[in-house]
Amino acid sequence: MLSRKRILVTGGAGFLGSHLCERLLNEGNDVLCVDNYFTGSKDNIAHLFSNPHFEVMRHDVTFPLYVEVDEIYNLACPASPIHYQFDPVQTTKTSVHGAINLLGLAKRVRAKIFLASTSEVYGDPEVHPQVESYRGNVNPIGPRACYDEGKRAAETLYFDYWRQHKLRIKVARIFNTYGPRMHPNDGRVVSNFIIQALEGKDITLYGDGSQTRSFCFQSDLIEGFIRLMATDDSVTGPVNIGNPTEMTVKELAEKVIELTGSKSKIIYMPLPQDDPTRRKPDITLAKKTMGWEPKVNLEEGLKQTIAYFRKFVA
Ligand code: NAD
Ligand code: UDP
Ligand code: UDP
Repeated sequence: MLSRKRILVTGGAGFLGSHLCERLLNEGNDVLCVDNYFTGSKDNIAHLFSNPHFEVMRHDVTFPLYVEVDEIYNLACPASPIHYQFDPVQTTKTSVHGAINLLGLAKRVRAKIFLASTSEVYGDPEVHPQVESYRGNVNPIGPRACYDEGKRAAETLYFDYWRQHKLRIKVARIFNTYGPRMHPNDGRVVSNFIIQALEGKDITLYGDGSQTRSFCFQSDLIEGFIRLMATDDSVTGPVNIGNPTEMTVKELAEKVIELTGSKSKIIYMPLPQDDPTRRKPDITLAKKTMGWEPKVNLEEGLKQTIAYFRKFVA
């Protein structure tokens, strides 16, 4: 018989959270989605409202939360630089106070707890590709620090609750992920380029476009989350989850122009401060501990994402 778990997803109305809620419901669980709708939207989860096993609560994770659950996926936090720099103090509070409240909840109900950490904990990395043992190169006082240091402090809290209170923790370090339900105005590179290409506007390349990223499609990432949560209690992470296919941002712009058949031109704009010059996950640990690796290639993932964004373009 199916054992129905009660699962809390914070940030469940966001890009990744909404895909996760959907997947967990499809697997026969009860899902409680908690979100303050800062960057998320009811539109992302509206198709789940008719499911009696889905519940939504408007709540800010910087405040305590008292619910009874078996597992917690903690995703609440704006993820795009424009959004997380809009109210940087709130960003740090969301990561740090959010972690404390959810760890306190996990401790009280003895729930297993997952953290959506980030490749940003590596900052502008001197080690390439990034391995989990690399301690990073983050500017603690720069404009990205509210996000990077917030997530680093959250990781610290997870590991202290693990050592001190024997909590079952799962820490994932997520690398750039894209797909349908990304916020159309969140300023991330994939959504920006696709929307600009579909509207025939200039493609805004920051810097000379030689900086690299490695893009993972959402369904591969969600599969990684589920597998990490299902690992033996001895597995705590941190585990890198991302697609190791690295490319320059300029190559991404050219690919988007090709796949949309757009006439847009590339224009060059200043590189934002502290923008990492390269990023690529080493996923050896994910392969070894959970038999996970990405399956969706960039072209296939971009086609699905382009089809989604066509709805937003008049
Ligand atoms: P997103 O902005 O679409 O989702 C974040 C969600 O959290 C939104 O629904 C937002 O309203 C909610 N939220 C923000 N602050 C909150 C608060 N104080 N209380 C309650 N809810 C709050 O971003 P996403 O891409 O889905 O990212 C989800 C998680 O994954 C984030 O923690 C992010 O740091 C992490 N992550 C994402 C990526 C990526 O490439 N998408 C990469 C690394 C890490
Ligand atoms: N907390 C919560 N929900 C719970 C239990 C705790 O939000 O079900 C919050 C609580 O407000 C506290 C935080 O989690 O501030 C940390 O809890 P913990 O028990 O670790 O510490 P303490 O209560 O001793 O500060
Ligand atoms: N970028 C760009 N044009 C844009 C948006 C972003 O060239 O319109 C670049 C950005 O400077 C960075 C990369 O694309 O080098 C990825 O940016 P994003 O904000 O998506 O994520 P990051 O990995 O920087 O958090």
